[in-house]
Amino acid sequence: MNIIEAKAIHYKYPDGTEALQNVNFKVKKGKMIALLGPNGAGKSTLFLHFNGILKPSSGEVIVNEESLNYNKEGLMKVRQKVGIVFQNPDDQLFAPTVSEDVAFGPLNMGLSQNEVENRVHDALKKVGMDGFEDKPPHHLSGGQKKRVAIAGILAMKPEIMVLDEPTSGLDPKGASQIIKLLYQLNKEGMTIIVSTHDVDLVPLYADQIYIISKGEIIKKGTSHEVFEDVETIRSSNLRLPRIAHLMEILKKENNLPFSQPYPLTIGEARTRLIDYLEKR
Ligand code: ADP
Repeated sequence: MNIIEAKAIHYKYPDGTEALQNVNFKVKKGKMIALLGPNGAGKSTLFLHFNGILKPSSGEVIVNEESLNYNKEGLMKVRQKVGIVFQNPDDQLFAPTVSEDVAFGPLNMGLSQNEVENRVHDALKKVGMDGFEDKPPHHLSGGQKKRVAIAGILAMKPEIMVLDEPTSGLDPKGASQIIKLLYQLNKEGMTIIVSTHDVDLVPLYADQIYIISKGEIIKKGTSHEVFEDVETIRSSNLRLPRIAHLMEILKKENNLPFSQPYPLTIGEARTRLIDYLEKR
């Protein structure tokens, strides 16, 4: 079953910018999907459609096989199912303390004080930010802010979590902590959609990748299917994962027998290299 679907979406901003053109995007329940594209491609614009912050100029958004309804009730319903973590945590965190921030969503859902406290506690624990309850969010590091923003969404127990560039601006350790957390949430059953231009991390976690360029989805498939099309990747201002690029150079410049599909991760490259060395 597709848990969320964008069907033939066009979106034009009020100033006339055509940000999305005939975008079709489908996600099956329980999957982890990456939307890969350079800056300005339309990733944030598409994501803002997933919980009704933006309404398509034409086309429709379907959640759990129901077309999104843009009245107050419909929007409330979709926002409980689809939680969006914005790119910049400063757009999301505004309460004086971490725990008040995480409590904001559940309180708005009309849950009891007791239930809210439990959810805040569980969400902060899950993202590894327990112990920070009384800290002002603006005293946290970038990675910590992101984790608190994720906790705020988790506390609402959405079925689908949408994260706009969750690793941007983080140091390598912070980025890998976020990816591990998302991976774990996904293993526990949450459907996760991530936008990124980090091509090195994507093959480690994504079940499927969509590539967006200039407001259009130009490619979709598994990491191998997508990165095999080197021309499309490069012409849309993206690049191969470093590991794949190395294999391409070894093949083209040193004539080593590393043909497509290139390994995309260190693990895959290791297997391929050991295999090559043993057969030599
Ligand atoms: P991405 O998230 O991939 O970087 P965006 O969705 O932010 O891309 O932007 C897609 C296009 O829409 C870009 O051309 C951008 O300049 C334009 N855009 C984004 N937000 C607005 C806005 N509020 N008004 C007008 N144009 C916008």
